Amino acid sequence: ALVVENLRKDYPTRSGPLPVLTGVSLSLSPGDAVAVTGPSGSGKSTLLHILGTLDRPTGGTVALDGTNPFTLGDTDLAAFRNRRIGFVFQDHHLLPQCSVLENVLIPTLVDKTKQPAEAEQYARKLLERVGLAARLDHRPAELSGGERQRVAVARALIQKPALLLADEPTGNLDRHNAQSVGEMLLELQRQENTVLVVVTHSADLARLFPRRYEMNDGNLQPAA
Ligand code: ATP
Ligand code: MG
Repeated sequence: ALVVENLRKDYPTRSGPLPVLTGVSLSLSPGDAVAVTGPSGSGKSTLLHILGTLDRPTGGTVALDGTNPFTLGDTDLAAFRNRRIGFVFQDHHLLPQCSVLENVLIPTLVDKTKQPAEAEQYARKLLERVGLAARLDHRPAELSGGERQRVAVARALIQKPALLLADEPTGNLDRHNAQSVGEMLLELQRQENTVLVVVTHSADLARLFPRRYEMNDGNLQPAA
């Protein structure tokens, strides 16, 4: 479960602290999927980066399955992020020189608790589930935009994370590919029983989600 309480974020600027998140609280159970919409600059990416432990909050707490990652030291935090959190960005962030299969396996390489043979078997299974079983040896440049995002989804799930985060995962895709990547994210999230938080400008994508919030004035409100 993900429990966020009174999360605040101020960015330091030359003219003083800029408050961006002013007390976000959110409680999500395994299997919950939410979409967050809201105006540009309202703090959606800031929230997602903090939930993903890529940035630290100014105040408040985050607990993922009972652990507040921000109480961990740097090494433990990196391991926590690698094992417990999957992130899909607007840009696929795949390594150009690596094959599809190798890209999906990247998070497992730094995790000494993982057996390479089992990791590879699971990577192949995930790639099959995102419809890319016939593209394992392709480089990212040899894929379509939608295919690249589906590789990114498989990579985000390879460690069986408790929390899956996606910031504008369909922002670079046409309508058709956006729909299919959105449906795929939700289908895999349900099967894996993870918590999913997606940030998007797309009303089409948000509509696929049972729970929707809007970010306004640094806070989340239930959206219609
Ligand atoms: P968009 O929909 O355009 O992606 P967003 O809701 O994701 O917007 P954020 O990226 O979270 O918005 O930014 C929220 C606010 O914080 C913006 O006003 C932005 O200028 C400011 N901001 C973001 N990052 C920093 C930073 N590193 N330092 C200072 N201000 C920042
Ligand atoms: Mg953003």
